[in-house]
Amino acid sequence: MLNFSYHNPTRLVFGRDAETQTGAVIRETLGKSGKVLVLYGGGSVRRTGLLDAVRSSLEEAGFTVIEKGGVQPNPRMNFVRDTVDWIRDQAIKAVVAVGGGSVIDTAKAVAIGVEYEGDSWDFFTGEAVPEKALPVFAVLSIPAAGSEQSTRAVITHHGDKIGIGSPLIRPRAALINPARFATLPALQISAGVVDMFSHILERYFSNTEHTEFVDGQAEAALRTILEFGPKVLSNPKDYDAWCQIGLAGSFAHNGYFGLGREEDWACHAIEHEISGWNEAVVHGAGLAVVIPAWMRYVSQFAPARFAAFSRRVMGVADTTDGEKRSEAAVIALGIAKFISWLQQMKLATTLESLGIGDCPIESLARHAVRKGPIGRLKPLSEDDVLAILTAAKS
Ligand code: NAP
Ligand code: FE
Repeated sequence: MLNFSYHNPTRLVFGRDAETQTGAVIRETLGKSGKVLVLYGGGSVRRTGLLDAVRSSLEEAGFTVIEKGGVQPNPRMNFVRDTVDWIRDQAIKAVVAVGGGSVIDTAKAVAIGVEYEGDSWDFFTGEAVPEKALPVFAVLSIPAAGSEQSTRAVITHHGDKIGIGSPLIRPRAALINPARFATLPALQISAGVVDMFSHILERYFSNTEHTEFVDGQAEAALRTILEFGPKVLSNPKDYDAWCQIGLAGSFAHNGYFGLGREEDWACHAIEHEISGWNEAVVHGAGLAVVIPAWMRYVSQFAPARFAAFSRRVMGVADTTDGEKRSEAAVIALGIAKFISWLQQMKLATTLESLGIGDCPIESLARHAVRKGPIGRLKPLSEDDVLAILTAAKS
């Protein structure tokens, strides 16, 4: 196991009506009230009443609220720039995201952008490192990205979808009412569940040895997502099932499952190429196409880890009709069971069935490795990525 230092200061307020505590929690965290910027997306939180509930809670706690909607899924840099310009001289005390990963990531980019004199895209190109940020708070409307507890922000600019990380942008508090997930469309439910699964998986598939404690926690979390994902998809009003998925999604990306180990992240890197190229692709739906092809390709390089995944997560038995299965058979069956589960979640598992069989895989593969090989379990070259994308086609 590797050495680590872990500090996760995000306060979680979880359960029915959690959003009504937004004002009180932010006031307590900041030690004062003042003017806050509330960000939201295309209008779902306005329609469901979540935005009004947050605004009322903030106003009751003495905050002055300014609002800006219009964050698009796969959020864009231009929106970040416009927002930073708008609030720069307004003495904003905090940025409150009401929504999912796209809104929270935008809030994070705004929070560092407003404390920086240059162009906030500099953080994403690596020309600048955030040194200061406004406090960020998140009221979650979709459990998927886990951005409400993560140090990451992902923003797209002219086809470049880039993620950055900084402890400064980890939200100070996240307010999560699982009853608010009942209005999600089916695709967002499926894609969100796969995204959270992948956040654990990308850490679980690691070469680091002696990580049994976190491995066991990750396997239990993955099994929980496998069990409750189909439940929330078939009955989005199942509050108790949403509680399991909501908690899993939030912990999936707060760093816990990566403690003491190298993390892989090749699937995310490849998926970001796809949804950077075509912003209509939902991140989790892109992952459902990439992960199976990645598994088939990489499993030969790390058979022991894939066999553990097949046995302990996918429940593949070592014997069939009294005959011992080979390790290769255990792995193949584990991957096949995972693909069946994706299909049960009503997701496409090939580029063609996702409707993007025309995607330019050669240029996406080249772009994916522009800074060097991606992934740690098996570092992937351009040829490797191309082989994975070719296998993902049909
Ligand atoms: P999202 O992009 O924030 O939202 C997806 C869609 O769901 C939007 O169309 C939104 O509509 C709708 N929606 C949200 N809540 C709803 C509700 N309660 N009822 C009905 N519709 C609702 O989804 P996300 O999956 O959370 O975020 C994806 C983004 O996060 C991607 O850009 C991904 O790359 C990024 N990401 C970030 C991290 C990180 O750590 N920072 C990790 C993984 C992924 P409206 O727009 O109308 O609200
Ligand atoms: Fe993700």
